[in-house]
Amino acid sequence: MNANPQVFDLLIKDAIFITADPKEPLIRDGYLGVTDGKITYLSRKAPASYKATTTLSLSGHFVTPGFVNPHAHSILSMVRGVASDLGFAPSYTPGIPKGTQVNSEQARALAQLGALEALLFGSTVLGDNFVHADTAAQAMSELGMRLCPSWRIHDVDFAKVAHGEWHHDPAIGARTLSAGMALYDNWKGNPLVTVNLAAHAVDTCSESFLKEVAELSAKHNLVVSTHLGQSKVEVQRVKERTGSTSTEVLEETGLLNERLMCGHCIYVTDTDIERMAKSGAHVVHIPKPNATSGRLAPTPKLKAAGINICLATDTQHADMVELMRWALITARVQEGGVDESWQPQHVFHMATMGGAKALGMQETLGSLTVGKAADFVVFNANRPHLTPHVNPVGNLVHTGQGRDVTHVVVAGEFVVRDGMPTRVDMDQIVRSAEKASRELWGAEGVQYWLN
Ligand SMILES: [Zn+2]
Repeated sequence: MNANPQVFDLLIKDAIFITADPKEPLIRDGYLGVTDGKITYLSRKAPASYKATTTLSLSGHFVTPGFVNPHAHSILSMVRGVASDLGFAPSYTPGIPKGTQVNSEQARALAQLGALEALLFGSTVLGDNFVHADTAAQAMSELGMRLCPSWRIHDVDFAKVAHGEWHHDPAIGARTLSAGMALYDNWKGNPLVTVNLAAHAVDTCSESFLKEVAELSAKHNLVVSTHLGQSKVEVQRVKERTGSTSTEVLEETGLLNERLMCGHCIYVTDTDIERMAKSGAHVVHIPKPNATSGRLAPTPKLKAAGINICLATDTQHADMVELMRWALITARVQEGGVDESWQPQHVFHMATMGGAKALGMQETLGSLTVGKAADFVVFNANRPHLTPHVNPVGNLVHTGQGRDVTHVVVAGEFVVRDGMPTRVDMDQIVRSAEKASRELWGAEGVQYWLN
């Protein structure tokens, strides 16, 4: 036996670890050690000999990997409580504020609000794409979470889309793509920030533009995020313009591959699903926003085809715990019952490893595994709604909430402690975002915000 004690910056003991690692999915009353931002010990048994700078006894607490939420638009937290009742994505809807109307001070406030909400509820990785990505990425990075930011890139004139006109302009494409690549250059080498490309959707990106994106993705090994089969309008526009489905266009332009994350996937054909499965592309399932608009992706079919599925909150309430429940329940409604392919551990896997895989980070995070990043979430499960602990992952998915999160650790650092962010002032962020939203809605002439 090695006589030298193991040295930890942090040791967590007596907790229930829900690992998302298939080798040992559940470790009761176990020990997790962290050294230099990585998990260096995880076992049911105590280390034979150790020294720890900090030791936490967390009896009755659940510890999970940080949730990976790969598709959000934090600045659009400004449309909370309104947009989901209008029936369509904000960018396509007249009468509500657009990203292009947001100034940089407002962008900063709203991006921090959206990212803070996600972090407090246990997302340690946030994929966020929108306009003002430079300001937003800087503002969000101050929270201490991992980020996969990207500019919303497109060559359509978005000012006209909300009024039913799709006009593609190469100058717009060049401008958005160069902003996207400047963001990549700016953050290259940062251990917590990995820039993606976000080709908005096939109806808002022409084929020649998508080819350019595909070339850059291949050249720099960049993950590409897109909205696929999000709306009937998209399906119709793409059919009129190209004679193909959006999935076919993505394949023809070289984007349908393992670096592509496809958000929504509501309107996809069986042939599209076959193409996606063969390509290794990932589905970003967004069950709550989709269901809120009265629609659902054919998730049981997508899962049965063997496609990697991850979960994301998009423009709505950034609670990944609640979202797992939506994913499970909506799939069961579609299936018409309970079966072995849709169980709590499956949606938990989607919310953790599924997202990590989609972002190309499955080797370094997404599960509680020795050697991976020390990114994890602590839930206080000593509460009536989470007791008894017969099947902890079942409790978490069926009765848990993001509000049950007590601590969030990223790369070994507590970025949320006792439910509060450690690096930023929560009250100040809330006040600034409220002010920014009032200004933006006020500019649209929505008086109830001003009363
Ligand atoms: Zn989206």
